[in-house]
Amino acid sequence: MSLSARINTAVRMNVAKRRLESRKIDSGTANPLEQWGLAKIRNDIKSNKELKAFLGNREFDRELINDYKLFRFKELMGYVIENSPFYKDLYEKAGMDPSQITSYTDLEKLPLTEQQKLAEHPYHFLCVSRKEIAREFTSSGTTNMLKRMAYTQDELLEIVDSVISGLKMAGMDSKEDTLQIMYPTITATWDPGLVLSKACALAGYNSVINDSLDVNEQLRTMRESGTTLIIGTSSFLYDLSKAVRDLIEPGELGIKRIICSSEPLTPSMREEIESIWGCKTLRQWGMTELGLANAIECSQQDGFHLNNPDFLVEIIDPKTGKQLAPGEEGELVVTTLRRRCMPLIRYRTRDITSLIDEPCQCGACLDQRISDIKRMPP
Ligand SMILES: [Zn+2]
Repeated sequence: MSLSARINTAVRMNVAKRRLESRKIDSGTANPLEQWGLAKIRNDIKSNKELKAFLGNREFDRELINDYKLFRFKELMGYVIENSPFYKDLYEKAGMDPSQITSYTDLEKLPLTEQQKLAEHPYHFLCVSRKEIAREFTSSGTTNMLKRMAYTQDELLEIVDSVISGLKMAGMDSKEDTLQIMYPTITATWDPGLVLSKACALAGYNSVINDSLDVNEQLRTMRESGTTLIIGTSSFLYDLSKAVRDLIEPGELGIKRIICSSEPLTPSMREEIESIWGCKTLRQWGMTELGLANAIECSQQDGFHLNNPDFLVEIIDPKTGKQLAPGEEGELVVTTLRRRCMPLIRYRTRDITSLIDEPCQCGACLDQRISDIKRMPP
C-alpha cells in the first residue's frame, strides 16, 4: 500500500472511530448494549424536530421507547412506499398507508415480508441509488435461499458500533483482552469473522482469526495471543471443547467468556462447554439479512438482549399471523427501523421464540429480550 493510501486509510479509521457511540459506553456499566441503544435513541430524538415534538419532554421509559419505535416504523413505511418497488406494490395491494398505523396492534393489518420475496427480487427492496451502496452480501442463510443485501457505509458503521457494544457486554473491556474468532471460512461474502476483527480494530481491542479444526493449533493461538474471549458457531465450539477436555484444566487459559452463535446451544452442550473451560458461555443470534449482530445474552444467561434502536420485533402465530403476548411462543418478525438502503418491514425470520417482558437481573429494564430460539420446520 502506498503512503498516501495508508494515510487515507488511517484518516478514514479515525473519522469512523469518532462516530462510534459505543466508544463512549463504559464496559463497567450494568448493560453496555442497553446503554448504547438508549444513547442512540436519545441522539436520534435530539436531532429530529418532528420526533422531538411528537415525544415531548416525557420520562425515558419503555412506553416512550415503544412510541419512538412506532414513529420510526410509520416513517419507514412512508419511505419504502416512496423508494422500494416491492413495498410500494405490497402496500398498494393491501390498501395500507402509514396513517392507518396508530398502535402496535395495527401492525397486524400489514402483510408480512416473506424470505422468498427477498431471494427472488432483492433489488425491488433497494431504496437508494446503486452508487450509494458500500457493500453487498449474499448468504444462503438457513433456508437455502440466496439472499442479497446491500448496505451503505453509514449502515456498516452502525453494525460495527452495535458489535462493539455487544462485545463490551460480553466482558471485553480493555486492551488486555483478545477475541479469538473461530468462524470457519465461509463462502458467503458477509464474513462474520471479518466484521468482528474490523469492529475490534476500531474499538482498540485485539482479535485473532483462527478457523483451524486442529485443536492444538487453536490452543497455541490462545496461549500466544493471550486470548480472553472466544467466538464461533455453537457446534464448532462444542466439538472443540470436547477435544480439549483432556488437554487443559478449567480456568487454566484465563478465558472469560465463550460466545456461541449461529446455531442453537442446548443446555447440556452449554453445561459441558462451561465445565471444560471454567467460564460462562453467551449465546448470540443474528441473520445476514438483518446485519448479523442482532441479539446477545448477558452474563445472567436469561434471554437475548436485542439491538434495541435498530429493530422492532413482534412474535406472531405463524399460521394466523396474529400477534402473540410476551411469554407466548411464535415466529419472530423483525422490522429494521433505521436502515435506509434495503429496509425490511415485518420480515419473517422463520425462527421460533417468545418475548420476555420482565427486566433482566443485569439491570437492563428498557430493552426487549427474547427467549430461546428454535428453527421453524421447513
Ligand atoms: Zn441481562
